[in-house]
Amino acid sequence: MSLKPRFHYACQRCTACCKCPGDVEVKDEEIAQIATFLGMPEHRFLQEFTRIRSNRTGLSLIDKDSSSECIMLDGAQCRIQKVKPVQCRGFPDTWNFPGWEKECEAIAVPIKGEA
Ligand code: SF4
Ligand code: SF4
Repeated sequence: MSLKPRFHYACQRCTACCKCPGDVEVKDEEIAQIATFLGMPEHRFLQEFTRIRSNRTGLSLIDKDSSSECIMLDGAQCRIQKVKPVQCRGFPDTWNFPGWEKECEAIAVPIKGEA
């Protein structure tokens, strides 16, 4: 029996996952890439756009003031789409949470050769 997933989920840019409360993890190896993309030194990116994660194991992007909306969300677009963190790229295919289908508008698309 194959354990390969038969579907992947095509994001519809509803932005719900960018407005969820919680961390948006930024891994060490992602920092330079995002800072370069934004045209700023790493230390400035770290200072202006990151905070310690709630479990204190690393860094997270910050939210906009008085909301749970990610600081990088600009309307329906991600300001760092081309270099967004692995956590953002993975949802909901590689990780999700109970009841995620009620929040996310991604469409299940059969993986070629698997359907
Ligand atoms: S980095 Fe971009 S994709 Fe990730 S939560 Fe923020 S706005 Fe959304
Ligand atoms: S919640 Fe789902 S459809 Fe909406 S932006 Fe996130 S991944 Fe895309």
